[in-house]
Amino acid sequence: MSDVPKIELSKDLLPTDGRFGCGPSKVRLDTLTNLYNTKDSILGTSHRQPTVKNLVASVRKGLKELFSLPEDYEVVLGNGGATAFWDIATFCLIDSKSQHLDFGEFSSKFAKAAKQAPHLKDPEVIKSEPGTHPVSYSNSEVDLYALTHNETSTGVSMEIVRPSGISQDSLVAVDATSGAGGLTVASEEFDVYYFAPQKCFGSDGGLWMALMSPKAVERTMKISESGRFIPAFFDLKVAIENSRLEQTYNTPSLTTLYMLNDQLEWMLNNGGMAFTTGRCDKSAQIIYSWAEKSAYAEPFVSNASQRSHVVATIDFNDQIDAMSIAKILRNNGIVDTEPYRKLGRNQLRIAMFPSVEPDDIEVLTKAIDFIVENLK
Ligand SMILES: *Cc1c(COP(=O)(O)O)cnc(C)c1O
Repeated sequence: MSDVPKIELSKDLLPTDGRFGCGPSKVRLDTLTNLYNTKDSILGTSHRQPTVKNLVASVRKGLKELFSLPEDYEVVLGNGGATAFWDIATFCLIDSKSQHLDFGEFSSKFAKAAKQAPHLKDPEVIKSEPGTHPVSYSNSEVDLYALTHNETSTGVSMEIVRPSGISQDSLVAVDATSGAGGLTVASEEFDVYYFAPQKCFGSDGGLWMALMSPKAVERTMKISESGRFIPAFFDLKVAIENSRLEQTYNTPSLTTLYMLNDQLEWMLNNGGMAFTTGRCDKSAQIIYSWAEKSAYAEPFVSNASQRSHVVATIDFNDQIDAMSIAKILRNNGIVDTEPYRKLGRNQLRIAMFPSVEPDDIEVLTKAIDFIVENLK
């Protein structure tokens, strides 16, 4: 039992779905029904047979369509989530030195992996205060620029553009784990755009996907031939070869693949990126304008252009304990609004991924107002 007052929310203050977490995030109920209806045809069958290979093919084709990728960009996938991809990039994409924008927990981790790799030079790390993002600049020594589309720990997003003046040969690699599918991006601005399916893609974790330019594939092949030691599990060349055959190197979670494909179909059938980003923009508009008008809450990210449209971080003034609000919400079935632990702020963090109904965000703001009224 928790130590907060018992405050019961009436029906009109309850969203249709109470899941506002940043990952694993809300899975649409239709997806689960559809999964159930496949009964004996997918789960429990071989990933080397046509049924599952067709599913992988559909995911790869769907992503290519959603992101309007040029013909020569490839969709590659494998096991281990976005975290595994940092190690993959460290082995297979960074030739000698990388540059990292560090503005939170997730963006700092790739920089750390690169720093620890004995075969690489120390990376250049450009850091900014939590709640802001740094800006990349060209460095002739750097051969891979690591950007993060959306820093999930702080609710800051950045527009993805190739840093100006960088050499033709250098790669731009973007961790888009929480941004992909909810924020706009143009393929000419990146060489690798990688993510996992448990955020905007309303599926479960365990998989990574990477949208790769021909230049990034070429770099992978070049490093592979260089004689560098690469463990097979982290070998991007192996992943590329398997992806071309519509499979993964080792056994994937079929549930994750199925739900990812179902979400992709939902996104594409409703209008693609215009549909998904439209929903996220609407949710963001609702929550930030509520916070700006509020007497006791405000958006954590002060620069409105850096405020994420997929993850909102809302600060509360000292008289109100945000953790108590999160607990009372949880007691009412509204879950995962707690802030990112290590950020250590008096705030709520709310996911506004495409699956989340903007109307539910509206109801959530009213529920928070009601709780604050009754906490006084
Ligand atoms: C969630 C997240 C990750 C980690 O994803 P895993 O699939 O758990 O490895 C990495 N980067 C960002 C930006 C994230 O939001």
